[in-house]
Amino acid sequence: MMKALVKEAPEAGFTLLAKPIPQLPVDGVRIRVLATSICGTDLHIYNWDAWAASKVTTPLTVGHEFCGEVIEVGEKVTRFEAGDYVAAESHIFCDQCRPCRAGQRHICENEKIIGVQRDGAFAEQIVMPERCIWRTPADLPPEIATLQEPLGNSVHATLAGEVSRRHVMVTGCGPTGLFAVAIAKTCGAASVMAVDVQQYRLNLATELGADQVLNPLECDVVAEIQTATEGRGADVVLEMSGNEKAIEDGLRCLSRGGDFRFFGVPSDRISIDVARDIIFKGARVQGILGRKVWDTWHDTARLLEAGLDLTPIVTHRFPMDDFEIAFDLIQRGECGKVILYPAGIPD
Ligand SMILES: [Zn+2]
Ligand SMILES: [Zn+2]
Repeated sequence: MMKALVKEAPEAGFTLLAKPIPQLPVDGVRIRVLATSICGTDLHIYNWDAWAASKVTTPLTVGHEFCGEVIEVGEKVTRFEAGDYVAAESHIFCDQCRPCRAGQRHICENEKIIGVQRDGAFAEQIVMPERCIWRTPADLPPEIATLQEPLGNSVHATLAGEVSRRHVMVTGCGPTGLFAVAIAKTCGAASVMAVDVQQYRLNLATELGADQVLNPLECDVVAEIQTATEGRGADVVLEMSGNEKAIEDGLRCLSRGGDFRFFGVPSDRISIDVARDIIFKGARVQGILGRKVWDTWHDTARLLEAGLDLTPIVTHRFPMDDFEIAFDLIQRGECGKVILYPAGIPD
């Protein structure tokens, strides 16, 4: 048996359970989970909001961000063996459909996300198909190795177009926005302006190199960005909040010919001024889903090798047993990234 964090029934909360060890298919890799991290998606499932109710079937082991050590491989596995240190692409792609075969695995038609549509990583062990496993350098600590998956979202969003020498605005400074601030700075943005309603998160953005932090509850974000960019607006807007007001402000701040990238998921339909803010600006608008497999993973690895420092973003660590304290903290937004250790916090 193994310890696992489970959504048992269609209602709020998770339960820590003893579950049978998962079966190992011939193309499967069994991994002892060393560290996991909590994502906004997990919070949706924890709270059991409308999105979670539409996506998740219970019972389900939750969690999709992790790293670990391979402890057993199926007989058809050729590239991994016991002892390998790995992370994994959490969106299990089929490698058969048209997008997959065209090199667009991140928009696989048959995608199954671990911890959402099949059993996930908040457990002592997980079994993953070999094709989704990513080899991880031994010198990356587990609390950083587990962040390759969420960091990859921000790498994908930030590097989907040019950021160097451009003014970059990041709306929403949860972990994905904070990662984007750090990546844009590392990649030579002319300036990075970060927006959030939580002072705690704005302080983290400053620590990660944001040139200006703006709280829309305390200032006129659109006016401030216009001033900071000599009236041109932000060349690139990375929308990491899903909040309607933030999206509207971001679109207002976008320069003529600018790039707007949506990553944050709005909880409902929203209203935007397409004519004023997109068409008549000649803007480019792109949706960002997950990570390009494996391009984004390579970019992420290069950024970590080059010294991208994520340590300020990891603000809390808990043994998995204390998951309720962890989710309560995230609920209040007074944290960066929260790490959960299935086997307890290592020494
Ligand atoms: Zn996630
Ligand atoms: Zn596919």
